[in-house]
Amino acid sequence: MAETTHDLVVIGAGPGGYVAAIRAAQLGLNVACVEEVEALGGTCLRIGCIPSKAMLESSERYHETKSALAPHGVKVSGVDLDLAQMLRRKDEVVGGRTKGVEFLFKKNKVTRYLGRGRIEGPGRVVVKNGSGSTDLRTRHIVIATGSKPTTLPGIQMNTDRIGASTEALSYSAVPKHLVVIGAGYIGLELGSVWLRLGAKVTVVEYLERILPGMDMEIAREGQKLLERQGLEFRLGQRVTGARVDGKSCVVECQDAEPIRCDRVLVAVGRAPNTDGVGLDSVGIKTDEKGRIPVDDRFATSAPDIYAIGDVIRGSMLAHKAEEEGVACVERIVTGYGHVNYDAVPGVVYTQPEIASVGKTEEELKESGVEYRKGVIFFRANARAHCLGQIDGRVKVLAHARTDRVLGVHIIGPRAGDMIAEAAVAIEFGASSEDVARACHAHPTLAESLKEAALAVDGRAIHS
Ligand SMILES: Cc1cc2nc3c(=O)[nH]c(=O)nc-3n(C[C@H](O)[C@H](O)[C@H](O)COP(=O)(O)OP(=O)(O)OC[C@H]3O[C@@H](n4cnc5c(N)ncnc54)[C@H](O)[C@@H]3O)c2cc1C
Repeated sequence: MAETTHDLVVIGAGPGGYVAAIRAAQLGLNVACVEEVEALGGTCLRIGCIPSKAMLESSERYHETKSALAPHGVKVSGVDLDLAQMLRRKDEVVGGRTKGVEFLFKKNKVTRYLGRGRIEGPGRVVVKNGSGSTDLRTRHIVIATGSKPTTLPGIQMNTDRIGASTEALSYSAVPKHLVVIGAGYIGLELGSVWLRLGAKVTVVEYLERILPGMDMEIAREGQKLLERQGLEFRLGQRVTGARVDGKSCVVECQDAEPIRCDRVLVAVGRAPNTDGVGLDSVGIKTDEKGRIPVDDRFATSAPDIYAIGDVIRGSMLAHKAEEEGVACVERIVTGYGHVNYDAVPGVVYTQPEIASVGKTEEELKESGVEYRKGVIFFRANARAHCLGQIDGRVKVLAHARTDRVLGVHIIGPRAGDMIAEAAVAIEFGASSEDVARACHAHPTLAESLKEAALAVDGRAIHS
């Protein structure tokens, strides 16, 4: 077996792993990254963030062209869907991005190994692929093996009809009736895609609310707006099974009529992926949720072995994985590096977008923190009127005594871009007064954040 020595071996080339590898190479380490799939970029680039956003963008263009341009004085007729081309475009976007990571590896002299990596003891990773094994010796190991979709008992997964997000990114025809199990962000985003393309979409959720973990006021408004678009919600319903029955599928729910449909998307969450990584060879034990326990340096219980991204605690988000990758290798090389989890935003790319950073109102209430709140509706924003997208609101939560911004929650046009300013405010420990005093260009949607910050002190001008 060939043997090669590196300073650092990263297992997994998702946003956590590939970013960690590049940053470590920038810091002067001799770095290898092991990835079992030919295309680099992990879940995010191949079957997650990027293909879903490509489909959201294309389906929104289709829907808008078909039914939302008349108020702008644009008459369109004969609009047709070319789903095959839409899927091809999505694949091209993905292909371009994964090739981009290959380019970055070459540029930064990160050695890539194609194959499945397994830790075989301290400082040793063995890579296996169709053509044999390579034995890598290394000072440090970063595990960045990500996550995989989970399911529920009683659901007979069958990739053709009853599948997870990966299948829902590539249906070859628009379903007549799609049932989405789970009202988290993946279910709502992919449900929106197929709704816009013409499917009837029913979302079944065990909880009495959508988007668990998001600020309640914002989630309620999200539900109302999505219902208005045609998404049907069945909340508070426990799915007890799903199976293919002839040409259709049947989703069974406790104490409710079964739902007959032609496709089922199971979007009930993701589980850390530690299969075959060799944790046992170095004595690492996973926690009750299958995650690898780490300390604030991302160190596992085994010396010189670290873990980042979806495979550890915290939200399963690409940018969180990236931040952890950077902080982890900076700590290894320089002794410094941290992630401020209060400033990690979350975005749901529905129409309108839903974005959030910091504490929710429910979390503040629960922890007894006194806060003041400013809310501004987009119907008070001139740019939103020009866009023809006046639904939604911006909510700023600030500490009652210090005025420090503790949370910002937005539902509305381009909320995903607007939330960046709020994340910077939280990272810098800004007060709502700081945000309110900063000059914002007119007419922009960002003016609503300024106004919401003013509203914390009852001084909003335009509402
Ligand atoms: C449909 C969907 C949409 C999403 N949209 C968003 C979004 O809009 N924004 C966002 O922030 N997040 C989004 N996510 C979540 C995001 O994709 C993940 O949080 C992110 O990819 C996690 O990064 P990671 O590096 O930890 O792991 P991953 O991206 O899962 O990468 C892990 C990599 O490790 C490889 N691997 C695993 N085991 C081995 C092994 N033993 N040897 C070699 N290679 C191995 C895998 O092949 C994979 O490439 C989405 C996810 C899905 C499914």
